[in-house]
Amino acid sequence: MSTSASRRRFIAGATCPQCGEVDKVFTQTRSVRISDSEVASEQRERGCVACDFLETIEEVVTKNAPSDVKSGEGGDWSPVKLPE
Ligand SMILES: [Zn+2]
Repeated sequence: MSTSASRRRFIAGATCPQCGEVDKVFTQTRSVRISDSEVASEQRERGCVACDFLETIEEVVTKNAPSDVKSGEGGDWSPVKLPE
């Protein structure tokens, strides 16, 4: 079972910056997926059904990017060899 990734919501009274039509502008959220179960980010887009206008408003990262940061090596101590 899967739901549609994008849901359009029309913005009442909004004017399309490209064609100037009113009430044709919508926003939608599009999920950018890494895999079937992992969502990397969600893009909020604004578009127009009267023309082909579409732009990304903002991108929301929902998952931390995989970090390769190694944990500290525990300082700069080094083993001391006792003289025999
Ligand atoms: Zn338009």
